[in-house]
Amino acid sequence: MAKRRKPTLAVWKFASCDGCQLSLLDCEDELLDVADLVEIANFAEASRAVQRGPYDLSLVEGSITTSHDAERIHQVRRASKRLVTIGACATAGGIQSLKNFKNVKEFVSIVYASPEYISTLNKSTPIADHVFVDYELRGCPINKQQLLEVIAAFLHGRKPAIPGYGVCVECKLQGTVCITVATGAPCLGPVTHAGCGALCPAFARGCFGCYGPKGTPNTGALAALWASQGMRRLDIVRAFRSFNASAEAFRRESEAHDT
Ligand code: SF4
Ligand code: SF4
Repeated sequence: MAKRRKPTLAVWKFASCDGCQLSLLDCEDELLDVADLVEIANFAEASRAVQRGPYDLSLVEGSITTSHDAERIHQVRRASKRLVTIGACATAGGIQSLKNFKNVKEFVSIVYASPEYISTLNKSTPIADHVFVDYELRGCPINKQQLLEVIAAFLHGRKPAIPGYGVCVECKLQGTVCITVATGAPCLGPVTHAGCGALCPAFARGCFGCYGPKGTPNTGALAALWASQGMRRLDIVRAFRSFNASAEAFRRESEAHDT
């Protein structure tokens, strides 16, 4: 009987820190199962052996920050039957999208010794601003169990079972005392997509919003609560401007206080 062809998997990097690709390598035991189910055909961080496309599933890490990358992502899309973006960089522009709020030329002149060699777009943008994306997996970095779920779902032709609720639900599920209620500490958990297992609140720290906005985040109510507790406008702006600064809901809320 003819052997069934394994689906091919490709992993692509754009502007990013590689942390989300490392989440895949960090799957250790599970990676052997993944390798059993798919042909890892193009994954520069794992192997120099590269097979030519097209690929059944592409995972894309990183945002678009150069004109070269703005062209390259279209090649990746053409070579991919399904394309999934992984991480805050790819789904929201990442921490590097802080430049979207300022004059990028000023940053370049301060950061680089020879700015004349730097060629960059004015904005860092998510992959979905450039090509059609089949699924967006959030997080900075992504949760490896969620990544395995997304790969399994696409292999079986079903929708990934990733919850859309916020971090507060994860606190409740784990019996973590709400630090906002108990201590008044600022926490982005009420507006942030679940995925980390409410890691920071479990250590009595407010959520930093690594997973970006949840489905229908009431950022205005959260900002109003912080303001009523005496939080400065600048600090409200800063709270919404981190890994997911350019995600629509966080961007709008930070701009509302940036006056
Ligand atoms: S989302 Fe975070 S961990 Fe992933 S590549 Fe970007 S900066 Fe790195
Ligand atoms: S600590 Fe933060 S994430 Fe947890 S329940 Fe309170 S507000 Fe929500």
